[in-house]
Amino acid sequence: SSLVVAVDGTSGSGKSSTCRAVAERLGLRYLDTGAMYRAVSWWMLQHDVDVDEVDEVTAHAHTPQLESGTDPRRPTITLDGVDVSVEIRSDAVNAAVSPVSTVPAVRARLVELQRDIIGAGGIVVEGRDIGSVVWPAARLKVFLTADPSARAARRAAEAGSTDVTATQESLLNRDRIDSGRAVAPLTMADGAVHIDTTDLSLDEVVDLIVGLATA
Ligand code: C5P
Repeated sequence: SSLVVAVDGTSGSGKSSTCRAVAERLGLRYLDTGAMYRAVSWWMLQHDVDVDEVDEVTAHAHTPQLESGTDPRRPTITLDGVDVSVEIRSDAVNAAVSPVSTVPAVRARLVELQRDIIGAGGIVVEGRDIGSVVWPAARLKVFLTADPSARAARRAAEAGSTDVTATQESLLNRDRIDSGRAVAPLTMADGAVHIDTTDLSLDEVVDLIVGLATA
């Protein structure tokens, strides 16, 4: 299959769970592009790069060696051969990833890696700029949103945290930077289908997208 499903949206709109389930249902691969930006950010933090200094981040944009596993049942992300799936969900990475993602050299490198993976065949890809920049030719483009309180409740539950207020602040801060940046700002792509997941269950969203993809 060469079916490409592009799923973009805000932090905590349910993209990851939704995309993995859709990929399993359709027998497609799965790519979490947010994990790639997170892994690069984790590398920068580990190597004492000041993530607010564009020149410093640019100088190291090509150094981290990334590998994304695309099995929806067991997605992996490795950095220089070491799995960093857990590390990339830390608070430190949550705070660093949006500034790192504004750096054009980082985006250019990751978009190139993403296009290589997508070009190899059928896949569900989640991110912020997949339908608009990475793969505008995707057969189906979906834009997922949800109310901030619903998103914060889901993210806090995933993280095993009870501090929903802090989670919501961190989400909204990332949304603000992601939507306001000059390069590839978060925006609904031409031809995308908007789904507000606030009052929908995971299964309902998955059914909707599978229906659209197979229509
Ligand atoms: O999807 P996730 O919340 O893991 O993404 C983390 C961050 O990575 C986003 O807030 C955004 O700054 C960046 N990102 C991006 N472009 C993508 C995917 C993620 O800029 N395609």
